[in-house]
Amino acid sequence: MEAADLIWLNGEFVAWEDAKIHVLTHGLHYGTGVFEGVRCYDTESHGPAIFRHQDHIDRLFKSASLYYMDIPYDRETLRQATLELVGRNGFKDCYIRPLVYRGYGTMGLFPLDAPVEVTLACWKWGAYLGEEGKRHGVRAKVSSWRRISSDSLIPQSKASGQYLNSILAKIETHKAGYEEAIVLDDKGHVCEGSGENIFVVRDGVIYTPPPTASILDGINRKSAIQIAQDLGLRVVERDIARAELYLADEIYLTGTAAELVPVREVDDHAVGTGSPGEVTKAVQKAFEDALHGRSPRYAEWLDAIPSH
Ligand code: PMP
Repeated sequence: MEAADLIWLNGEFVAWEDAKIHVLTHGLHYGTGVFEGVRCYDTESHGPAIFRHQDHIDRLFKSASLYYMDIPYDRETLRQATLELVGRNGFKDCYIRPLVYRGYGTMGLFPLDAPVEVTLACWKWGAYLGEEGKRHGVRAKVSSWRRISSDSLIPQSKASGQYLNSILAKIETHKAGYEEAIVLDDKGHVCEGSGENIFVVRDGVIYTPPPTASILDGINRKSAIQIAQDLGLRVVERDIARAELYLADEIYLTGTAAELVPVREVDDHAVGTGSPGEVTKAVQKAFEDALHGRSPRYAEWLDAIPSH
């Protein structure tokens, strides 16, 4: 990871190397944190701009409240701090990581007396599943690990501790020689990738699990649904059986880190022809246009970094 100059830590801009916390930080022991992954692009229409910034801030607050964390700053303060952080670090495009966590002050499983702390960091981060993956598709494997269910956790919260589930799936598939995991729920329905939502195309119709499934309600999922509908494509939110992955004409994943990535193989079965299909390519192009400010229609999704 390439260091930036500054990190925002509990209301102050501090040097990257000084952004340190105590080893008895509650979140470090018990995973009591929530976070976001956000991207800034050097857009054609607005210059450097954060994609769907307000949606990410809103989800951060929702994730926090689901775990009884009161964020000690309001949304606009965090929005302004993020814009300033990216600007002062001199980035035109970068990945941004807001994190809210239970800090130092108390140990044990009752966390409500531990302070809630907030940090914002950003760094340069290329395509998470690689440029090759974005162009030609990735090889995926269905993980033997099932996605956390709402019987035991809150899948819709982007909570730090919950990511141990994604991490097990990611390690398993990586060791088996694949680029990404596809995770099923406890009933065997397709949920998502380890850090992306999933779309399956059959006979020209796009299917994706509903927001009531054990998925993270991805912001790029929402964008990709709207973009597909705006292109005149039909999108159906419904449960997806594992076998449909093998019968699909096309599959793609969406997420902030990964962006929109075609899947070219699942469990060693080629998806369709084995190269990205027409629906995937059309949605991917319109999606990339939106991210990079080439689509006036989606200009409202861009939050420009003020120039200094
Ligand atoms: N599912 C999981 C488990 C994720 O970690 C992510 C990445 N945040 C997503 C889906 C996609 O969400 P988004 O489009 O908001 O990045």
